[in-house]
Amino acid sequence: MEVRARILVLTEDSGEQAQPTLQKLLKEALKLVDPSVDLNPNRIRLEPLPENERALLAVRANQWKEQPPTIEAIRLLELIATRLVEPAGFVVFHFDTDRVWAERHNSENRQKFETIIRERVRRILRGDVPAPRFGPQRPRPTLTAEQIEMALGRLLVLSPCYSIESWLYQATKEVLAYCQERHDSEAHVLRIQSWSADRKLLDEISRPKHEALTCVGDLHNEALAKAFPAEEVWLAERSFFESVERLRACSALVEALGYGVRSAAARAEGHGPHEP
Ligand SMILES: [Zn+2]
Repeated sequence: MEVRARILVLTEDSGEQAQPTLQKLLKEALKLVDPSVDLNPNRIRLEPLPENERALLAVRANQWKEQPPTIEAIRLLELIATRLVEPAGFVVFHFDTDRVWAERHNSENRQKFETIIRERVRRILRGDVPAPRFGPQRPRPTLTAEQIEMALGRLLVLSPCYSIESWLYQATKEVLAYCQERHDSEAHVLRIQSWSADRKLLDEISRPKHEALTCVGDLHNEALAKAFPAEEVWLAERSFFESVERLRACSALVEALGYGVRSAAARAEGHGPHEP
């Protein structure tokens, strides 16, 4: 089976639930981009960094925003650049906007991602940055300006407003159950019911896990991701929609995901790739 996409999945959240939580949300986003997508991991591979990879330190704990870059950040930028020029290579980077939807344009994280991560990866791809003194020294192909921008187009962002919990708390039935396990709060029940009635509201809640619903916090993120009502939240046209539509704007990704439909159609016509 041919690998159509090898997606390096990076999340600024640490902890055991962070990676499976993000992967689940990403899969839901990919299904919205292409409802026919075949998410067989042999076809669409979601790959975290290994736990012993020191570049993880740069992804987590906001270290990627530091200027000048730390040694771990330099390593991270190299790994991103390498993945973007590999066949079927993509990078999905999750960071929180740390702003509500109405304030998203003032998000320091969003600005710094573009000026620090994307711009530095661009310089690496241009060959403006000397090769680092660590890791395997793979010769990088010389790319045209157009090829560099195409590679950078495969560096994709998931940036929830305000934070990842703003998406996860959309699993309102499950959130309500967790809240009620902890205490009896009428205010919380009303709050959660309002989020369920209007899927736009959560994007305007500041610091959801630290202020709005400390009873739930981030204790159940992986379970909430499994119950995430992706289509409903997408229809609200807030930060989840924005992130899904950014994925959709990447034609290389759309092409990789759409393989299932086209190959099935080709098989029906008696030609095209044959499955083992
Ligand atoms: Zn509560």
